[in-house]
Amino acid sequence: ILTVAKHFDFFYFVQQWPGSYCDSRRGCCYPKTGKPAEDFSIHGLWPNYADGSYPSNCDSSNPFDDSKVSNLESVLEEQWPTLACPSGNGLKFWRHEWEKHGTCAESVFDEQGYFESALSLKKKANLLHALENAGIRPVDGKFYTMVEMKDAITKAVGFAPFIECNVDSSGYHQLYQVYQCVNASGSDFIECPVFPHGRPCGNKVEFPSFSSASSRDEL
Ligand code: 5GP
Ligand code: 5GP
Ligand code: 5GP
Repeated sequence: ILTVAKHFDFFYFVQQWPGSYCDSRRGCCYPKTGKPAEDFSIHGLWPNYADGSYPSNCDSSNPFDDSKVSNLESVLEEQWPTLACPSGNGLKFWRHEWEKHGTCAESVFDEQGYFESALSLKKKANLLHALENAGIRPVDGKFYTMVEMKDAITKAVGFAPFIECNVDSSGYHQLYQVYQCVNASGSDFIECPVFPHGRPCGNKVEFPSFSSASSRDEL
């Protein structure tokens, strides 16, 4: 008799806004491959249960293997850059995401498939475009309401996202991460069965520029 780990129910696909990551008190470090473009970037694709809990680090016998993503590396550097300090080349961040989250979805994809699915979801979501279509652009000192940001994404994607904020060095709330729910095969956005418990946004939210941001080594 086979004992199978409880299958998860859906994924959170999480993207970060680099301007808000870098603009926080902790600051950021650009990857060794250079400052990323002014666009959302991938944080991870996380299996989740409908009750809000989630599995993690599911298979230590299947560690991250660089060679399995070598053909994706240049795209990952663009779309899934690492902004943590000290500067890295991304492999450490991708390893962390695969081992903590990806290994819990081995029934759906292998390592390469995990990264390919996330890249394809990012393209589908096209968050920056969705916001721009609603006149929401990354500009320092300009504020938007939570409702208008959420509506812009809902209108473009068809499903409401969860928006998480952090706080910039002057104490303003800013759009930090966008969570979207994805079906258990990792292919399409769905209505969220449950929203995460992220840091709340006030009603006045900044969407800071990234092109004018600095990394710690520049300060
Ligand atoms: P934080 O405490 O920074 O919000 O989350 C830390 C880490 O815990 C995340 O990067 C992610 O790996 C994991 N995590 C936090 N919340 C959730 C969640 O709702 N679902 C899943 N699957 N992982 C989460
Ligand atoms: P999670 O919060 O997904 O469990 O953890 C993210 C881990 O990846 C943290 O240990 C964090 O230091 C590392 N990391 C490396 N680069 C990044 C990045 O650009 N964004 C985030 N959120 N975490 C990163
Ligand atoms: P981890 O402890 O797992 O490295 O990171 C925990 C959280 O702290 C991550 O979700 C990530 O968002 C944040 N974090 C980690 N390193 C950095 C950093 O260098 N700069 C910023 N701004 N946040 C970081």
